[in-house]
Amino acid sequence: MRNLLKVRDFSALDTFLSKASDMDRILSLRENGHDVAIDSMKSRVLGTLHLEPSTRTQMSFESAMARMDGKVVRIADNNSSLKGESLSDTIQTMSQYVDAMVVRTTSYIEKWGDPKKWDCPVINGGDGDAEHPTQALTDIYTIYKRLGEYSGLNIAIIGDLEKGRTVHSLVNILRYFDAQFFLYGNDLPDTYGRYANTVVLESEDDLFDVLPEIDVLYLTRTQFERGGSAPLFQLSEGHMEILPHDSLVMHPMPRTSELNPKFDDDPRCIYFEQSKNGVPVRMAILDWIFEDDKLYIIA
Ligand code: ASP
Repeated sequence: MRNLLKVRDFSALDTFLSKASDMDRILSLRENGHDVAIDSMKSRVLGTLHLEPSTRTQMSFESAMARMDGKVVRIADNNSSLKGESLSDTIQTMSQYVDAMVVRTTSYIEKWGDPKKWDCPVINGGDGDAEHPTQALTDIYTIYKRLGEYSGLNIAIIGDLEKGRTVHSLVNILRYFDAQFFLYGNDLPDTYGRYANTVVLESEDDLFDVLPEIDVLYLTRTQFERGGSAPLFQLSEGHMEILPHDSLVMHPMPRTSELNPKFDDDPRCIYFEQSKNGVPVRMAILDWIFEDDKLYIIA
């Protein structure tokens, strides 16, 4: 049984990206009216246990499951945690009702209980301010689809680096692929940045010096619900002017004041395409979760 709890659980990025490309191609064919069947989730049930707000992760997983002929059940807001049930009991119980589940909580996966007690694979859909592996895979797939590569890139990551979990997972994968990171905002915790090739930018002037060399500008919002108090950055016309014409501006969304909608029509601003890519990527993740798992193969 395969869980996807941290990005380090994930190997074979190339194979994964080609699987996501296949899913993406199938979805485009269908959008263009072709009847392409993919029913690898038939008779399977995905549970989504999102105990924190979620739009993209929850909906793209549910859509991915539906597009592969699977079914989804979600926990109701009035679940037994209101009676004081522990998170680990809730997860263990729900794992008995479904074939795989996606969990999002304010607490770290270490509080999710003992994986040996889970009856099905569990996917981390965001654990507090720690990790968000499936968002990082969506981000990398988006970069790969647009630039044709994901290694050796100059990536500026700007905003809430301390509590922005998508950044933690992204750095933790791309550090294996020769990424040069330029960080601007609050501090990336050591746990995530220690082995990465990073330059910490101290001022906006430093940022202006590096922007002309950037392949990917990755913005994040301040995590106000995790104690963040002030906006840390605001993308301006000045930044956009010196960013290379073939660079990408990305954001895991939702956005706040750091990213003004006036930039949405700029061809470099691909954050809505990035969220759309969440569907083929999560289709590929669901497929990957069940691969080699003979127990789940229906004869
Ligand atoms: N949607 C992303 C997350 O759940 C980013 C964010 O909320 O800022 O972490």
